[in-house]
Amino acid sequence: MNQIVQNDKKYVAGTYARFPLTIVRGKGSEVFDENGKRYIDLGSGIGVTSFGISDDTWVKAVTDQLNRVQHMSNLYYTEPCTRLAKLLCEKSGMKKVFFSNSGAEANECVIKVARQYGVEKKGAGYHQIVTLNGSFHGRTVTTLAATGQDVFHQKFLPLTEGFLHTPAGDFPALKKLCEENRVCAVMLECVQGEGGVIKLDEDFVRKTAEFARENDILLIVDEVQTGNGRCGAFYSYQRFGIQPDLVSTAKGIGGGLPLGAALLGEKVENVLGFGDHGSTFGGNPVCCAGAVSILERMDDAFLAEVNEKSDLIFRTLQNAKGIRSVSGLGLMVGIETEKNAKDVVAACMERGVLCLTAKTKVRLLPALNIPTEVLKEALSVIVSVCAE
Ligand SMILES: *Cc1c(COP(=O)(O)O)cnc(C)c1O
Repeated sequence: MNQIVQNDKKYVAGTYARFPLTIVRGKGSEVFDENGKRYIDLGSGIGVTSFGISDDTWVKAVTDQLNRVQHMSNLYYTEPCTRLAKLLCEKSGMKKVFFSNSGAEANECVIKVARQYGVEKKGAGYHQIVTLNGSFHGRTVTTLAATGQDVFHQKFLPLTEGFLHTPAGDFPALKKLCEENRVCAVMLECVQGEGGVIKLDEDFVRKTAEFARENDILLIVDEVQTGNGRCGAFYSYQRFGIQPDLVSTAKGIGGGLPLGAALLGEKVENVLGFGDHGSTFGGNPVCCAGAVSILERMDDAFLAEVNEKSDLIFRTLQNAKGIRSVSGLGLMVGIETEKNAKDVVAACMERGVLCLTAKTKVRLLPALNIPTEVLKEALSVIVSVCAE
């Protein structure tokens, strides 16, 4: 065990099952360990480094801002924050943005807005939020309550009340639950990430959106993992032809620095007033400058390339030996393997390819700009590991 690992085990809380690997540097989709061994990174820090490691344009935007001002708090205006808010609204069809620092916090914000809207508009008790089984919305006590997976709940009871869970894909059940309770919002991920990279049925999503609109129930889409180009559209809901009332996002938005955002649609753009919500670090100018440099490059041509690479992954892996199925959307991919997913990931790592898992699947979240040749090289390793 090297010194880093020893100190980590001694001083860092043991919440993570880390891989036995210490990464010291990288560029784009290639990273290197302390012995100089090269790895192709298909995890991008769990969908965070959207343009890979130390992307030149992003580094320049971040360092330029660092040299100007790194933080002033939300008591003052800073340019990157407003630029990013404008960019996000223009690309998403949403009206206003509240910035925070993580996915869970972005979800806390959309939950607060939904509750405030429900109670102000429909009356006392209209604070219930329906979420889906298998969903993942974060690890704060409230976003755990929103998460439709009991495994995450048990040790932390009692959780925040007011969340109802229903099976993904079963519209009549969702409708019934909404009709029998005082519901202010339905919250979903178009592709359940932590739940196993499962794309929701398009008909279910559209019917849910329509039902919500007709009944003045807010539609919240959690785009923390699926958003910011990951699914081959700026936001995944755009591929389902719906427009939510609230969107939460984080992970890939900042290209590697912590940043979360709650996007507020027309119905709710003025729900939050002075003092209703806040965040000391939220909208940090360095994080926002980095995010602008990433998101302003995500035009239609770029997203078309994301979809081409997605096609390449699905074509290469579907029907390959030892692979049962491939799921997901864009560059968010789940692979059901005959072998145990953890063993596949370990064998890939041995051969210089870093993959993730989600439930029982191997999960890929490569940088959105991964060069096709590098992607092909990594896929051939996955194919041979699964076939053995
Ligand atoms: C990762 C994730 C979260 C939580 O984000 P954090 O930044 O870890 O708080 C919430 N929702 C979804 C869909 C996620 O994938």
